[in-house]
Amino acid sequence: MPPTAAPGATAGRLDPEILRLPFYEPHHLGLARRISRWCEELKPAPDGEDPRETGRRLLRALGDAGLLAHLDPDAAEEVRRDGDFRGLCLVREALARTDDLADFAFSVQVLAALPILRYGTAEQRRRHLPGMAAGRTSGSFAVSEEQAGSDLAALALRAERVEGGYLLDGAKTWVACGSTADLHCVLARTGEGPGLLGLTAFLVPADLPGLHTEQVALTAPRSLATLSFDRCPVPESSVLGRPGGGAVIALDTLARARMTVGAAALGFARCARDAALTRARSRPMQGGRLFDLDTVKAGFADTEVKLNAAALLVARAAWEADRAAPGFARHSSIAKLYATEAAQQVVDACVQVFGAAGLVSGSLPESLYRQIRSLRIYEGASEVQRAIIAEVLAPAGPAHPREGR
Ligand SMILES: Cc1cc2nc3c(=O)[nH]c(=O)nc-3n(C[C@H](O)[C@H](O)[C@H](O)COP(=O)(O)OP(=O)(O)OC[C@H]3O[C@@H](n4cnc5c(N)ncnc54)[C@H](O)[C@@H]3O)c2cc1C
Repeated sequence: MPPTAAPGATAGRLDPEILRLPFYEPHHLGLARRISRWCEELKPAPDGEDPRETGRRLLRALGDAGLLAHLDPDAAEEVRRDGDFRGLCLVREALARTDDLADFAFSVQVLAALPILRYGTAEQRRRHLPGMAAGRTSGSFAVSEEQAGSDLAALALRAERVEGGYLLDGAKTWVACGSTADLHCVLARTGEGPGLLGLTAFLVPADLPGLHTEQVALTAPRSLATLSFDRCPVPESSVLGRPGGGAVIALDTLARARMTVGAAALGFARCARDAALTRARSRPMQGGRLFDLDTVKAGFADTEVKLNAAALLVARAAWEADRAAPGFARHSSIAKLYATEAAQQVVDACVQVFGAAGLVSGSLPESLYRQIRSLRIYEGASEVQRAIIAEVLAPAGPAHPREGR
């Protein structure tokens, strides 16, 4: 049922016009109000705080506010529905509009919990998810390797079969929250078949003997790490899903998470647009305001079109996933591709409006400029999204309707 009440005044971090669309249900409006309130009350991190500590603190705060409670499979139905894809996208958009690391903490926790929710045994779900839903324990999703990021079929970290379990040997890299997570979901080569057919997912505790982590510094400070496994023993019960079924878990998880990256990109872009508008409206220029110049106004018009298109594509993809439409993965790729590319342009335009002031270290435009860049790479680079979208177009279709007229 479409919402009836106008959500504007109480869901300030989200676009009330988008929330009025029939994609959304009343419970989404409730969630939009809760996440907006949480964002409005969020205090900036203390100067110089290690992003790993910030991430832990934010995760606990999100847990305390019940914003991760939907990850607990035993939660009440009205709590679990906050975790539908429309809900996840609304939360990521609001968080990214407010604070990069809050979005990072939320999104990595969801990414790590999703495969357990969807493929875990009752015991695995019971053991890991309540703590993650409370924000008290955290997870990571460790897939990428130095030599295999986009190309999952080339993953090399080995899981050698031994009595009672496996030995993990090799390394993962670029793992979000890799040095802070309590639990890693690790994709390893078990060799049931070639390429994608020979991969298995494992749930691995962070205190596993022989596992070492090393922090990687990126342009935007986020907690990213390399995980090195030196013949680490894991029991058979740590297998997630079935042996040889790891690629399905990874691809399915990424297909669902991608649209939420588009939502975060939208949040970053809205933040940049707000900053640029405030600046252009107040900056004196040629006897008027910067905003009054025709070329500047035209730039803002282009930004409005991009924000609207991105918001609609994200909402469509999330709605398709929530109704389990067979083609949702393509919509997820479309939303991610468009929203992340558009957000990069909107943030760049924001820097341009600020002029030199937009390049000062630590200024909002400069921070956004560093923060937005990785979204066109992680969870599938833009080129990979184009390949996914184009694949559907490849089979021969019906004749062109104008042919033979
Ligand atoms: C902030 C951040 C967080 C991340 N978090 C995680 C995480 O939690 N877990 C994890 O496992 N990984 C994570 N990653 C890694 C991320 O998933 C990879 O960086 C990404 O999949 C790309 O892999 P790559 O970096 O090895 O680049 P490559 O695979 O080497 O690709 C490089 C470039 O080649 C081009 N390319 C690749 N494939 C194709 C293709 N099929 N068609 C056309 N062009 C192509 C693209 O331009 C691409 O950007 C994270 C990365 C970042 C930046």
